[in-house]
Amino acid sequence: MLRCQRVNPIHHDPALLITLPQSAERWLLDCGDLHPLPLHDLQHISTVFLTHAHIDHWIGLDALMRAQLFVPHTLSIVGPAGLLGMLQGRLAGYAWNLVSRSEFCVCGYEWTGRHWINQQFRCADGFRPQAPSAVHELPSLRGWKLNWVELDHGVPCLGYRLESPRHYRFNPACPHRPGPWIERLKLAMSQNRLDESLEVEGQTLPVASLTPWLKPLPTQQLAYITDTRLHDGVRQRIFEAFGPTRWLYCEAAFLESQRELAEAKLHATAAEAAQLAVVLECEQLQLFHLSRRTQGLVDDHLREAQAIFAQTRADGELFP
Ligand SMILES: [Zn+2]
Repeated sequence: MLRCQRVNPIHHDPALLITLPQSAERWLLDCGDLHPLPLHDLQHISTVFLTHAHIDHWIGLDALMRAQLFVPHTLSIVGPAGLLGMLQGRLAGYAWNLVSRSEFCVCGYEWTGRHWINQQFRCADGFRPQAPSAVHELPSLRGWKLNWVELDHGVPCLGYRLESPRHYRFNPACPHRPGPWIERLKLAMSQNRLDESLEVEGQTLPVASLTPWLKPLPTQQLAYITDTRLHDGVRQRIFEAFGPTRWLYCEAAFLESQRELAEAKLHATAAEAAQLAVVLECEQLQLFHLSRRTQGLVDDHLREAQAIFAQTRADGELFP
């Protein structure tokens, strides 16, 4: 099962570590201070989903690159408009004359507002940018589906939703022996091709007659929303992009009593985070990224959110 851990205390820089099921691979949602992470975790991060480039969300890139500089893999960084230019600026800020044997590579994926473009920066080339190109697909996410949405923070800022691949349980009462047809049936079911036929033990059978023998299991869905106003229009936009979502990590920088500050700083209140959890039909809401001005008042944020959405927590960890 997916495992999520907030890297830093609730008032500190945002960074959420995702450990993938049955894999050493890790993902990061935002890239704030990463010093609390052990080297093993840092070296296994394959993808960073960056919401925006404010320093508290992005300062961890140096620590991440320092840990991965001689790891022979590609670090993918997915982010909002302007990402590739900012990445180029960060990488140009160091001298790279003694690392030409490294196979490490950084690959940025920028959402322009209409499509994705990517650009590679190879360590062996001193991280000089290669020509950018438009891409139709993001890097392999091991079958996970990514949705994104543009938020309201005064700078390009994305919220993300990740959904696990669907798994199926085979019914042992099935009169047909398990075989390669099961994988073909899963594919047909996942693509909703129920009016087609499949070869099963020498017979041609309608897909619809075989579906009772494979039970689809629920997927896991995680949404990550931070640094945005969360008024009705934004909540609706998030719902249209994401649909119902099981788990939500949402910033709650301020309280309703600090609404003026929330509006001035383009952040959300705990009540607004809870209203988003209701709209997304969540099972659980994790509050994070509380303003340092409210340090020590986590219980106030929790109370405000729980009055609207009871399943709200602020301990930062999700082990479904
Ligand atoms: Zn910000």
